[in-house]
Amino acid sequence: MSRLASVPQVYVITDPCVDVKDASCVEVCPVDCIHTSDDDRICYIDPTECTGCNLCLPACPVGAIFVDGGSPSAPAAWTEVNALWFRDPAAARARVDDLAR
Ligand code: SF4
Ligand code: SF4
Repeated sequence: MSRLASVPQVYVITDPCVDVKDASCVEVCPVDCIHTSDDDRICYIDPTECTGCNLCLPACPVGAIFVDGGSPSAPAAWTEVNALWFRDPAAARARVDDLAR
């Protein structure tokens, strides 16, 4: 097996989650890598912790979760937003507001 094949596929949360944020995905994630706060309009997946197990994807009632890069709207931007929240939550919130307009 190549080294690349052993890298887990990261999942990301995207625009349909905005202002829904029902936390169904949080409840099923086995490694607790989906986070949010009262100040946020979405949940965020920690790309350093996600194992790519796929359990969150079918649990989302609005189809907001995609494999990294798979979002039909601004795929790179949503990948960036998920990772950004773990470094700079305020910047991630501002980016969500921009993307959700
Ligand atoms: S793919 Fe698995 S590990 Fe990654 S966020 Fe979803 S439930 Fe959690
Ligand atoms: S299940 Fe979907 S809508 Fe609910 S918090 Fe997770 S990504 Fe957002």
